[in-house]
Amino acid sequence: MIKKYIVLIIIFSTTFLYGYTNPILIKSLNDYKLLKSKKIKNKEAFSSIVIQNFYSAYSNSKSKKDKALSLYMIGKTYLYLTESLKNGYEIYADLTISSFYRLTREFPHSSLSDDAYYYIAYTYYFHKNTPKTALRIINTLLRKYPKGDYKIKALTLKKEILKKNPKLKKIVKPKLIYKNKLLKIRDFVGVNYFRIVFDFLKKPEYDIINQEFSISIILKSTLISKSFKIININNKNFNKRINIEKDKNNLIISINTDKIVNLKYFVLKNPYRLVIDVEEQKEFILKPHERIQTIVLDPGHGGKDPGAMYYGLKEKDVTLKIAKMVRSYLYKLLPKNKFQIYLTRQTDRFIELEDRVKYANRLNSDLFVSIHCNASKNKNLKGLQTFYLNPSRDRVQIDTSNDVQAIIDDLMKMARVSESVKFAETVHYTLFNVLKKRYKYIEDHGVKKAPFYVLVSTKMPAILVEVSFISNPLENKRLRNIYYLKNISYGISKGIVKYIKHAEFTKN
Ligand SMILES: [Zn+2]
Repeated sequence: MIKKYIVLIIIFSTTFLYGYTNPILIKSLNDYKLLKSKKIKNKEAFSSIVIQNFYSAYSNSKSKKDKALSLYMIGKTYLYLTESLKNGYEIYADLTISSFYRLTREFPHSSLSDDAYYYIAYTYYFHKNTPKTALRIINTLLRKYPKGDYKIKALTLKKEILKKNPKLKKIVKPKLIYKNKLLKIRDFVGVNYFRIVFDFLKKPEYDIINQEFSISIILKSTLISKSFKIININNKNFNKRINIEKDKNNLIISINTDKIVNLKYFVLKNPYRLVIDVEEQKEFILKPHERIQTIVLDPGHGGKDPGAMYYGLKEKDVTLKIAKMVRSYLYKLLPKNKFQIYLTRQTDRFIELEDRVKYANRLNSDLFVSIHCNASKNKNLKGLQTFYLNPSRDRVQIDTSNDVQAIIDDLMKMARVSESVKFAETVHYTLFNVLKKRYKYIEDHGVKKAPFYVLVSTKMPAILVEVSFISNPLENKRLRNIYYLKNISYGISKGIVKYIKHAEFTKN
């Protein structure tokens, strides 16, 4: 009886006391409980439904509280999946981190934001093996939310990290001397044109790198003013994310753009300000998808996000090398001047997961290939695995009150007909055969669908290749070898070319 009362109280308190009003959200909270129970056998398939429904709750909710909780629960579901599969699908850890980051970005004042930072640090530490990154995030949590309810948990985790990684204690931050201060960022938006103005305390020293689809601005020896708020950019037309990273005593600011046709910059006085004018080209978006012309390669992670790290090797460095090699192989293997191949990043810089896909969508790309390295606590695990992302047409809520298994079966069938599956299988098995011919102990984990709905909705066939396990000693060693990377890159490129031929053959 008492138990029943407690259950009732919990239901009442979640719905009324905390004011969660969205019925999809309330139902999904129950589905989340169901997911964790023994009743659900296929955790991966069911979680994709749960995540999709949380995403519907997020999109449909008017209240910030509901939206924040929905994002939070998406993160929790991905985290549950990361922990329960035990197969080292590091992409679920990536999605956990991205979902929680999105919460901290969109709802920094939510009472769930410090919890989110905690789980980001937790995931980096336990599933990415990156204690340094985890520590940095815990420090961010403690600085931003000194009174948050996750403070004790964060301190406990910090203690554990320092105990197991005593070297990190010794890293005393060098006293950085800043010569300048960034006070404000302002924007002015026109048609195919925008201007960004940075206000400084003193005359700025800077470098600007035009990366064709993004601009990086390096502000030397510059500190951000404490009063600085990114909210300074509140122009609705300015739908670009400005990412600010610290690199020693420099600030690195990156802005993703459409194709840049003209870039001008100059410094003005009183107050000192750096003005950047960007003219963008938009027309090329209208290209019809009749044949494959544009390919976007996406090297996973970058900048402040190292990805998984084992034996000192970082996922972000491996993925960038492979992506660049794939691009040069593709230019060799494909007919000249008929294809455009883009990279979401060419350097070691941070890009949000969502922005990677937005970039491909904006380019009206025909294929999207994301490159990652797998990782697992089980260091014996090795081999290849490829995920496909279904181009999402609609994000309808799925009713799970009926027979769960039947719905899962339906979803599986639907997924089969997708072009992404064909693309994934072609690339995966071509790569597998290339490696198998040249190396011993190459294992195959097959092609799978990933529950990506939320963060990633591509308009084109899209895949994510986990090229090897960075956590496995043998494969880690191989990932440091240029010939192994070349073979991987060749295998992926050959697979892409094969798929293009298949697609053209089917259309004619
Ligand atoms: Zn990754």
